[in-house]
Amino acid sequence: MSTPPLAMSKLMPVLFVGHGNPMNAVQDNEFSRTWADVGRTLPRPRAILSISAHWETAGCRVTAMPAPETVHDFYGFPRQLYEIQYPAPGAPELAQGIKQALDDPVVHLDFSWGLDHGTWSVLCRMFPAADIPVVQLSLDSSQPPGFHYRLGQRLKYLRGQDVLVIGSGNMVHNLGVMAWDNSALEWARDFDAALAAHILAGEHLALVDYEAVGENAHMAIPTNEHFLPLLYVLAMQEKSDSITFFCEKVTLGSISMRSLKLG
Ligand code: ZN
Repeated sequence: MSTPPLAMSKLMPVLFVGHGNPMNAVQDNEFSRTWADVGRTLPRPRAILSISAHWETAGCRVTAMPAPETVHDFYGFPRQLYEIQYPAPGAPELAQGIKQALDDPVVHLDFSWGLDHGTWSVLCRMFPAADIPVVQLSLDSSQPPGFHYRLGQRLKYLRGQDVLVIGSGNMVHNLGVMAWDNSALEWARDFDAALAAHILAGEHLALVDYEAVGENAHMAIPTNEHFLPLLYVLAMQEKSDSITFFCEKVTLGSISMRSLKLG
């Protein structure tokens, strides 16, 4: 068996996390426990770049403030969830570095957002000490899926700089037909399995063209903001990476919690 080149073995893993219900931040359940386990097994990054489904903008933005606010971007949940703070520092120099690395598209430094629940509901379980600097990259909602995949390829260099990149969304996400229980609709399970098969086969172009993955694509991905973070993560894959799924489950009827670690 050949050993990978030294540089490759030092690359930081990349994660896609299905975040699902914001209550996972405060509930001790199979998902939050697994996130904590994953956090304990990862090498400690010098910073985290999160690409969350919950920050869509016109154009690309990256948070550049030294102390990002905890954004409670949801309605109708118990007070306990609004009281959560995730006081991780920002990383203005990392934001600046990303801006400089990508001249086209232009990435704008952002001082108005913060860390939304796509980021903190996961990180408060994965890295509860909140002592690793975090920046968020927005999803440019004017761009097609291929743009997001190519942008991910250009951010791959961060893996060699001890930056942990996390895409946070849900591979299958349909709030319109969801159920408040631990059930799985058959089409949602089928579509989740089809996506997993493409991921394992390295068929990234099929995933960029997700509308052709199956007849239920319009049900599984009625809007694509929860799917797009996956494309950034896949775009950072190296041939030598192992592929590990965790939280492989469809819950709430139509939400896939399937999560992915590369490397
Ligand atoms: Zn969400």
